[in-house]
Amino acid sequence: MAKHIVTLIPGDGTGPELTGAMQRVVEAAGVDIEWEIREAGAGVVERYGTPLPEQVLDSIRRNKVAIKGPITTPVAGGFRSVNVAIRRELDLYACVRPAFSIKGSGARYDDIDLVIVRENTEDLYAGVEFEQGSAAAADLIALASTSGAGTIKPDSGISLKPISISATQRIVRYAFDYAIANGRKKVTAVHKANILKYSDGLFLKVAREVASEYADSGIEFEDCIVDATCMQLVLHPEWWDVIVLPNLYGDIISDLAAGLIGGLGIAPGANIGSEYAVFEPTHGSAPKYAGKDVANPTAEILSATLMLRHIGEVEAAGRILESVRRVIGAGEKVTYDIKRSVTGSTLGSVGTQAYADAVIADL
Ligand code: NAD
Repeated sequence: MAKHIVTLIPGDGTGPELTGAMQRVVEAAGVDIEWEIREAGAGVVERYGTPLPEQVLDSIRRNKVAIKGPITTPVAGGFRSVNVAIRRELDLYACVRPAFSIKGSGARYDDIDLVIVRENTEDLYAGVEFEQGSAAAADLIALASTSGAGTIKPDSGISLKPISISATQRIVRYAFDYAIANGRKKVTAVHKANILKYSDGLFLKVAREVASEYADSGIEFEDCIVDATCMQLVLHPEWWDVIVLPNLYGDIISDLAAGLIGGLGIAPGANIGSEYAVFEPTHGSAPKYAGKDVANPTAEILSATLMLRHIGEVEAAGRILESVRRVIGAGEKVTYDIKRSVTGSTLGSVGTQAYADAVIADL
């Protein structure tokens, strides 16, 4: 029997080729893993009547750890996001996205080492929405008016932004515990509390209370308004350490951070709960590149290094990261996105699998 059993969800779009490359790299690093492959996404709806068959969640519940490729979410209409559903069903409340510089990535900066800790279960992602013209939307509009909360135009659609004390407490505690466990120095809570007094205001109040519990931890605490955070991240990315933030800001700032380090192709991620962990890149399914062997598998491979650390395979994770650094640093066998950032042209780039082969050859 293999030492580890990990649920593998290839996803759709570029997902299967990226997870395929990742699997080959992890196996070449000598980690003894049995992959329990489970399909999810648009491709399985016809067979199972849902994009997220129960057997996918059953497998993750059994194995406790999963890695996935991206899964497409239809824009407006169709099914809701499978990615969000997995996070919600398994209560994967912390989305952890490290953003660190890799020499040769073509990024504008070379000294970034920050970690985004995004709350994963509530905020505007809670999916509590009221369709324009519906009776429920009309009721809510009437309630806003009669309660004195404010006036909403009658022809509005409405999405709610719930922020709770309990979810904020656990995400900020997670950020502090992560900072302590990983030798970090500072946690910054990001919000828009000056405008959104009852949601982000509560987030900030609770974050401050939790920070006071960690007053003796040696971890510094500060807060920053989300718009100022965007500007300061671009001006001084080296200032930032652990950033904890509500769901939607976390989504947006994750992509900003990915841009700072050289693009979505190299930005890994993890969704962590108290019982289960699901690892996945920050990027989506990049459907225009599906099946073309061009997408960069680094984000998927680095997500696997986070997964390997999680299951105790720290040495293999370190070796894979070093090989990725050397291959990207050498600049000869890199995918189109990195080649373009470095030289301004995609000429001389290699495909997904050839890049993975270069990483494997370096291991
Ligand atoms: P995307 O991340 O798929 O692609 C945006 C652009 O980023 C691409 O056009 C490409 O230029 C670049 N890119 C992304 N991944 C890359 C890679 N590995 N290598 C090189 N370049 C890469 O974002 P999108 O187009 O907004 O979303 C496509 C679909 O993915 C949507 O349905 C969206 O909902 C879904 N999505 C899924 C996840 C997930 O599975 N967790 C996350 C984000 C988006």
